[in-house]
Amino acid sequence: MNSDAARAGIGAPAAETCEVKVGETWLPATLDEARGVYGYAPKRCPACHGAVYVLGSYGAKQQLRLTHRRMHTGCPLTPKTFSGALSSHPDALP
Ligand SMILES: [Zn+2]
Repeated sequence: MNSDAARAGIGAPAAETCEVKVGETWLPATLDEARGVYGYAPKRCPACHGAVYVLGSYGAKQQLRLTHRRMHTGCPLTPKTFSGALSSHPDALP
């Protein structure tokens, strides 16, 4: 596995994380982990708690992206649609 080298390389922004549900607990995970180790676990956005999935491909150049299943204007992790005020996702996962 070369993932350490990839991870230590080009500075990935700290926002590139999500939460995965393990048992009854939500744990923080990198997108790499969310897609690999926690591939089948439910995932949510660390900011608005909306359901998310991880898009991207494996390879030398990792470009994984967190994507909300339903767009939400109250989430700062999606600057394009962010309204400026943080609010919980209407479909937030408990
Ligand atoms: Zn969000």
